[in-house]
Amino acid sequence: PRILALESSCDDTGAAVLAGGRLLSNVVATQKVHEQYGGVVPELASRAHQQHLLPVVTAALRDAGLTKNDLDVVAVTQGPGLLGSLLVGGMFAKTLALALGKPIIMVNHMRAHILAHFLGRPVPTFPFLCLTVSGGHTQLVVVRSALDMEVIGQTIDDAAGEAFDKTAKLLGLPYPGGPHLDRLAQQGDPRRFAFPVGAMAGYDFSFSGLKTAVLYFLKKETAKNPDFVAENLADLCAGIQHTIITTLLRQLRRAVAATGLTQVALAGGVAANSGLRTAVHAEAAAQGWQVFIPALAFCTDNAAMVAQAAHFQFLAGDFATQLASPDPRLKLR
Ligand code: ATP
Ligand code: FE
Repeated sequence: PRILALESSCDDTGAAVLAGGRLLSNVVATQKVHEQYGGVVPELASRAHQQHLLPVVTAALRDAGLTKNDLDVVAVTQGPGLLGSLLVGGMFAKTLALALGKPIIMVNHMRAHILAHFLGRPVPTFPFLCLTVSGGHTQLVVVRSALDMEVIGQTIDDAAGEAFDKTAKLLGLPYPGGPHLDRLAQQGDPRRFAFPVGAMAGYDFSFSGLKTAVLYFLKKETAKNPDFVAENLADLCAGIQHTIITTLLRQLRRAVAATGLTQVALAGGVAANSGLRTAVHAEAAAQGWQVFIPALAFCTDNAAMVAQAAHFQFLAGDFATQLASPDPRLKLR
């Protein structure tokens, strides 16, 4: 099928065309407006999606060398995400599908993050284990098939990406702080500052304790030395990153042991983290796992992964109707 997919769950507006399982185009407009606020402002995100959607869709069709009449189906992210942002993308998709007389496919954003692995090579075989680490989610998922997934562990508070961004903010780094913290950590000593590891019983994660620990530690130290952060920035970044990676790996190791699944996939924006990549590859070499990490452009929010998920749903006959509506808390199944 020739699929046009839209992504608008958070602050990236994406459109992609996938035809016969081949990606023909993938366009993303990232919203700059949130930087000055140090986080995503939902109402501004909705408005920016309204401005970006038509140009992004037009570019995706042009890059693919298709017109909208060539499409077989329109796919869109249903959730989870910000309600206003989801509404804008959902309305656009439904209106376009109605005008063209084409069916609609509603896609779960977290499933799309996982199915991004099928956009490139090598491809994991079912069943496999996926650690999804993004701005809003941290999940350990048993992926039985493209349509059958089970979350066996997740964060009970902040997501891993949030942990990066919030601690980076405490260090005075620009938003989103994850990539900045990653870069600085590469010059730092991860053993100088220790923070609490948020690995819970079972396979759940907790990252709010780390944020609080960093906050109070910095308060205490800057009271003694106002230049503490500036003088120790790289080591602080390395210590924080090391803590997050230790937490993720501890639960990942447990999940592999319990499920016996040794194909380990990473998904989501935090999969871009150089320390996490190195640590997972090292662990894989030691334990005999096979590791899968999608190309960077398919880790952060994009519509190509939504198209890929829609491709599987199309083959399974999983279509929606004009009555479909966004679900900000859509669960992964
Ligand atoms: P969700 O899918 O849960 O709704 P999202 O799609 O907004 O969230 P992503 O785009 O997958 O999240 O990932 C964004 C997150 O990834 C941000 O928190 C960002 O700081 C983090 N991130 C990106 N690159 C890196 C990096 N190199 N190191 C650490 N974190 C990073
Ligand atoms: Fe996402």
